[in-house]
Amino acid sequence: MEVAASLVGKASSIHVVDRGHVPYQLVLGEQVGRVALKMLQAQGVQFHLKAEVEELQGQDGKVSRVVLAGGHQIPADVVVVGIGVVPNTAFLQGSSIALDRSGAVLVDLFMQTSLPSVFAAGDVASFPVALLGGECAPIRHWQIAQAHGHVAAFNILGRQKALHTVPFFWTRLQAKTIRYAGCGRGYTDTVLKGSLEQETFLLFYIRDGFVTAVAGLNVDPMVSLVAEVLDSGRSISKEEAEAMERKALQKT
Ligand SMILES: Cc1cc2nc3c(=O)[nH]c(=O)nc-3n(C[C@H](O)[C@H](O)[C@H](O)COP(=O)(O)OP(=O)(O)OC[C@H]3O[C@@H](n4cnc5c(N)ncnc54)[C@H](O)[C@@H]3O)c2cc1C
Repeated sequence: MEVAASLVGKASSIHVVDRGHVPYQLVLGEQVGRVALKMLQAQGVQFHLKAEVEELQGQDGKVSRVVLAGGHQIPADVVVVGIGVVPNTAFLQGSSIALDRSGAVLVDLFMQTSLPSVFAAGDVASFPVALLGGECAPIRHWQIAQAHGHVAAFNILGRQKALHTVPFFWTRLQAKTIRYAGCGRGYTDTVLKGSLEQETFLLFYIRDGFVTAVAGLNVDPMVSLVAEVLDSGRSISKEEAEAMERKALQKT
């Protein structure tokens, strides 16, 4: 999506192929995904949603078209593949180091694996996420990898330190930045403040009656402020999110 946004005005045509109904569906959900979709469609980016790439065709090592399942063809000079990451942990299978179902290495809050004195950090690690009540999940952001490395180093040195961080990332689409904090995995409800149509909103992701994540556009520094509250260990109930003053969304 970021590559597509940055190519507006430079490439003669830009196509995004995605399995989801909307871009960012898995992380940001349907509502924010639809905002991002409209933002890029307004710039002429063409989307092929609920679609899959079947084949890249070309000659002499140069791509010339993308073929989708179902046969639709998109002429292409350049193809950028952004399809996620898979832990490269096959070599650990059958060892005493426990992996989750996706192959990520399970660690505790000290980044220690199931084998004492062996630590894992970053994208490869599935760690207890406080916002999910301690449920283990891999969260693949730069800031998380940095926090993991920091905590792992302390514990390797014997200076016991537990992980304490709220995941945070942002995505920049042209001049607009969608910020996100927390971990919305398994959310069942959302609370919207502001307007998705007007691209000025704060969206709370709710699980078991409490905020587990928040996304925002054009409402700085609201996402950071919510992240600070969550980082302090204070929970935000759905009712508190609903009661948040609309004026809090005014641009700073
Ligand atoms: C295209 C892209 C865009 C991204 N954009 C963002 C963003 O905007 N914001 C954000 O927060 N995050 C972003 N991320 C995620 C972020 O880059 C990762 O979360 C972060 O780099 C993870 O750090 P890491 O050290 O765990 O893994 P990596 O940075 O992947 O480093 C792992 C290293 O281990 C090496 N390695 C792998 N297997 C072995 C082995 N068996 N032996 C030895 N070495 C090995 C690899 O070669 C690699 O150098 C992006 C990722 C990608 C791919």
